[in-house]
Amino acid sequence: MAEIIVVGGGVSGLATATLLARTGFEVSLVESHQLPPPELGPDPDLRVIALSPASERILRQCGAWELMDLDRVQPWRWMRVWESAESSGVEFKTTDINEARLGHIVENGNLVRALYQAADAAGVMWLNPETVSQFNPRGAGVELQLKSGSWVRANIAIAADGAFSKMRGMAKLSWKYVAHQQRAIIAEVSAELGATEAAWQRFTPRGPVALLPLFNGHYSLVWSTADAEHLIQCNDEEFEEMLSMVLGGRMGALRLFGPRHCLTLGRGFAPQWCAEGLALVGDAAHVVHPLAGLGQNLGLMDAAVLQEELAWHPLSQRALRAYERRRKGWVWATQWTLEGFRVGFSFGIPGLDRLRSAALEYVGGNRTLRQFFINQADGRWDAPRWLREPVEMERRRESR
Ligand SMILES: Cc1cc2nc3c(=O)[nH]c(=O)nc-3n(C[C@H](O)[C@H](O)[C@H](O)COP(=O)(O)OP(=O)(O)OC[C@H]3O[C@@H](n4cnc5c(N)ncnc54)[C@H](O)[C@@H]3O)c2cc1C
Repeated sequence: MAEIIVVGGGVSGLATATLLARTGFEVSLVESHQLPPPELGPDPDLRVIALSPASERILRQCGAWELMDLDRVQPWRWMRVWESAESSGVEFKTTDINEARLGHIVENGNLVRALYQAADAAGVMWLNPETVSQFNPRGAGVELQLKSGSWVRANIAIAADGAFSKMRGMAKLSWKYVAHQQRAIIAEVSAELGATEAAWQRFTPRGPVALLPLFNGHYSLVWSTADAEHLIQCNDEEFEEMLSMVLGGRMGALRLFGPRHCLTLGRGFAPQWCAEGLALVGDAAHVVHPLAGLGQNLGLMDAAVLQEELAWHPLSQRALRAYERRRKGWVWATQWTLEGFRVGFSFGIPGLDRLRSAALEYVGGNRTLRQFFINQADGRWDAPRWLREPVEMERRRESR
């Protein structure tokens, strides 16, 4: 019998399992896909994540950061966000936050492989490939039946099995999900006028379009749009032309490399994150729009806060409740802020366009506001003590 069973071996589940195993708990992890994860191919994985500095620290605490193929981890030091073709918008820079970088762009495959190795080294036991078919609270613990028929017992279970979590349903926790009209087209592109280590995002009434720098000098495109059907069906030349147009020509000619994929988008939230003997983390608890690249960063912070609470109150329901109290309000507020941006930028009314562009320019000219937005995205205010203190110490060292 393990002390903790984590269900789901995506980034949130692997990070939770690793942090808890490194704290000294006996941890098992159930994952439906075959582990270890596949090797990376020469071409970039289209599923990329913009990781904040706080997430980098969490991954270092897992012992996973150094295990990534660091030649494929792209730092990002500058970002421009704009709306109308005439306005310059906001420019976020490393000098705004006294950090060496705003974050890193990492392929999901690279991160999952490194976390798998870190979890394995920390002593996580693998139940794989497996899924859970029944979940029951039992006495002071929980029991789970696996698809293969065997039963496993633990003091607590953690559901990290993604947006369509079966564990959440089995624990009878409700889920509020709204599918967006927009879908995301993801692809690899190159830009004639792009700069390395720079990210770009333009808000349009049809949805935001973002270009994140990749390790090979190209960009990962995340184009959230209400016109996804046409954009996935049109030919490459037409797509490149429309992309160049939607970016207002700022990045010159754009060239597509490889296939385009289309992902559905939605907003999901679990009103309760805990049941008897169970807590939700990552997308199993909350799904946000990718416009600020926050979903995975929120999942990693869930893992860090849950680890801290369980270290303080080992294997107790009290720890799960405290985790829920600390995280839920913050994530809820983040989700509605993002929703405000998504809806606010979707009205194509001429007067409103000018107002929004003026607001962006105002933020662009105000360092305190730029700092506020970057720190908000980093989620550092909600961080566990072990994550905050090194930051404060580094800051003090730098300011001397
Ligand atoms: C277009 C797009 C761009 C994004 N960009 C960013 C970004 O730049 N930055 C960012 O922070 N976030 C981003 N996100 C969000 C991010 O991808 C998600 O928040 C993140 O993948 C959630 O990770 P997770 O581990 O919680 O869930 P998942 O990645 O969904 O992992 C769930 C795991 O559980 C396993 N599983 C599922 N069911 C079972 C079961 N019954 N039994 C066992 N195992 C099971 C699955 O196989 C999977 O491994 C983006 C999302 C989209 C759609």
